Amino acid sequence: MKQAYDVIVVGAGNAALCSAIAASEQGAKVVVLEKAPKHKRGGNSFFTDGAIRVAYEDFHQIREIIPDITDEEADKIEMPVYTKDDYYDDLMRVTAGKSDTDLAHQLVGSSLETIKWMRQQGVAFELNAKNQSFINDGKRHFWGGLPLKTKNKGIGLIGQLFHRIDELGIDVLYEARAMKLLKEADRVNGVVVEHQGEAKALQGASVVLACGSFEADKEMRKQHIGDEWEAAIVRGTEFNTGDGIEMALAVGAQKYGEWSGCHSIGTDYNAPRVGDFEKPGDIFKKHSYPISIMLNKDGQRFVDEGADFRNYTYAKYGKEILKQKDHVAYQIYDVTLRPLLREEYDLEEATSFQADTLEELVDQLPVNKKAFIETIYEYNDAVQAGTFNPSIKDGKHTEGITPPKTNWAAKIEQGPFYAFPVTCGITFAFGGLHVNTDGKVLDEDAQPINGLFAAGEMVGGIFYENYPGGSGLMSGAVYGKIAGTEAGKYVQSVNVMK
Ligand SMILES: Cc1cc2nc3c(=O)[nH]c(=O)nc-3n(C[C@H](O)[C@H](O)[C@H](O)COP(=O)(O)OP(=O)(O)OC[C@H]3O[C@@H](n4cnc5c(N)ncnc54)[C@H](O)[C@@H]3O)c2cc1C
Repeated sequence: MKQAYDVIVVGAGNAALCSAIAASEQGAKVVVLEKAPKHKRGGNSFFTDGAIRVAYEDFHQIREIIPDITDEEADKIEMPVYTKDDYYDDLMRVTAGKSDTDLAHQLVGSSLETIKWMRQQGVAFELNAKNQSFINDGKRHFWGGLPLKTKNKGIGLIGQLFHRIDELGIDVLYEARAMKLLKEADRVNGVVVEHQGEAKALQGASVVLACGSFEADKEMRKQHIGDEWEAAIVRGTEFNTGDGIEMALAVGAQKYGEWSGCHSIGTDYNAPRVGDFEKPGDIFKKHSYPISIMLNKDGQRFVDEGADFRNYTYAKYGKEILKQKDHVAYQIYDVTLRPLLREEYDLEEATSFQADTLEELVDQLPVNKKAFIETIYEYNDAVQAGTFNPSIKDGKHTEGITPPKTNWAAKIEQGPFYAFPVTCGITFAFGGLHVNTDGKVLDEDAQPINGLFAAGEMVGGIFYENYPGGSGLMSGAVYGKIAGTEAGKYVQSVNVMK
């Protein structure tokens, strides 16, 4: 069969597009297969807030990435450095030391150079000021190691990457669902693709799988993560149904990582059941909960809302909300906290309740009213003295209640009062394929499968139990670039052998 392309890239999110561009830089003729129609292209990456976690030695390196920060603006910014060691330590801390050390080092160590490479491809970045800093003493204080985001969120990221794809003359096929890998002797050399309803074999010297994990497939969620995950809202694309993972397993790839785990958050109770491409921008999350208290329908708290900065707890608290009756929890704030809430709380899409007294607020909620009020009063009594400061872990805590609140424990006592109902939204599954630091997919004996590469959220072994915010895009970009580069080099070696 005639080989029309050197490298076939499956998927059209951040990881896939970075792969396609990197393979093209190696001189390969590349095609991108996107399962979605054109108006739903870009995967979960399109839905993101664009927050991207990078290691940097000083503010100067951030200014190189965002050159339009003026000296005057810079003077008003306090940004702690976030070194490779800091990033690596955070990754290991939140994954309970389980992250694959080689993959983790590669992710962290290549993060800054990959951001610079993305910039060269036309991706623009800006400060993540609204979500990752607070004004204090006239200065903007950043916290949590996540000061960078792509301009205009995931919409901007995907728009710029497609712009570059077009500039490079890379073909993109829409409504092109990869179904099966072709293998000849010991080499993967193409895919069977259903393109606009017609199945055909597409030959290529190498294949990069970057087509997401299985979060949008109800059956796979139930099978691998647990029955209760049927009820989770899918935050992103409907097209990530585990196809790439299953295709790779069918040719002998090794499963890797935490197959029973996933990234999930507290999202608006009335968010769409699956990501709506007309409403991107990650507008349904509710991420100010560290300064709230969260109660379930029985009127009980169930997590330490202030255990850490939002960046290090949000991805594991979705699971805790899913466990509550009817999969719902209520974030409670009073008027002193309300101005500190992130902008998503002010959107017309935000579901909320408001009242002048706590009793009137709770009357509007379908909860055990007596227990609900009692819990809030008990919490207020347990709050210890101290200075409330959301830009640091302020240690302002509770005593004598379970679960405790470790930081940002402020009394909920001045009306008006506010309740925001949230449920569990799944982002992606942690389990996936085993790749090495060259992005090569490994078989059951941990040997590379010739011609097969993978990147993005379908790679297992990096995230377990939890996740440091902004690492999904970084992982997709780092491993996408690597997989594409290596796939391009592999093509050259295959052509030399011919
Ligand atoms: C609402 C939301 C907000 C988020 N915010 C952030 C954030 O701010 N920062 C961050 O780091 N991470 C964020 N994430 C996580 C982030 O989106 C993912 O980690 C990352 O984008 C995954 O990139 P990817 O390229 O691997 O997958 P995706 O971007 O999901 O791309 C997968 C692609 O594969 C295609 N596809 C699937 N199956 C097939 C098939 N059989 N054949 C062909 N194509 C196929 C899909 O259509 C899609 O184009 C967020 C996720 C969501 C849902």
